[in-house]
Amino acid sequence: MEKLFKGIRRFQESYYKKEKALFKRLAKGQNPSALFITCVDSRVDPNLLTQSMPGELLTLRTPGNIVMPFEAIKDASSSAGTIEFAVMELKIKNIIVCGHSGCRAIEVLRESDEKTSPMKQFHNWLNLAVPVRNNIQKNFANETPEARQRHAEEENILHQLQNIQTYPCVDQAVKDGKLNLHGWYYDIYTGTVNIYNSSSSCFEPA
Ligand SMILES: [Zn+2]
Repeated sequence: MEKLFKGIRRFQESYYKKEKALFKRLAKGQNPSALFITCVDSRVDPNLLTQSMPGELLTLRTPGNIVMPFEAIKDASSSAGTIEFAVMELKIKNIIVCGHSGCRAIEVLRESDEKTSPMKQFHNWLNLAVPVRNNIQKNFANETPEARQRHAEEENILHQLQNIQTYPCVDQAVKDGKLNLHGWYYDIYTGTVNIYNSSSSCFEPA
C-alpha cells in the first residue's frame, strides 16, 4: 500500500498542480466523448492506451468486457446502469468495446470446467458469453490453443457489440445517428490496437 500512498502524494504535488485548471473545470461536471467498455484486467489501462485526460472517457469494466444483454437483467445491474447513464444522461457519442490479448476471462470461458471451480459468480458472469464458446468450439476446434484464444477474444468483442444493441436506449441512439459503436482489440505484447471494420469483417490496425 505504501507505493500507492506515495503515488497519491506525487499526483497532488506534480500532476494536479500542472493540470489545476482542468481539475477545477472537471469539478463542475463531465462531458466524456466515449463510453469505454473493457476487461477488469489490470494490464489494460484505457486512459494510458488512448492517452486521454481525466474527463474524456467514461469507463465500464467487467470480466472479459462482457455486456449483460438487456433481456438478461433481472435485478440491479451496474453495467446496465452505466450504459443508460452514459447514453441517456451524458449523451455520449461513441461506445467502444475493447478486448485484449491473453484475456484470462476468455480463456476460462473457453476451457475451464465450471462444475469443479469454486468461482461460481465468475462463471455465472462468463456464461453470458456462452455463444462465443460454442462458436469457437464449432468452428475452430482444430486450431492451436493460441489461435482459438485469439479467435475467441475477437469473437467476444463482436458478440458484446450485439449485446449492447439490445438496450433500447442504445438501439434508438444508433438509429437516430447520435451514437456510434466500435470494436477494438488491444495486443498487450506489441502495444497495437486493431479496430473492427464492418465492411471487411476484419480487425485492422488503428
Ligand atoms: Zn481480460
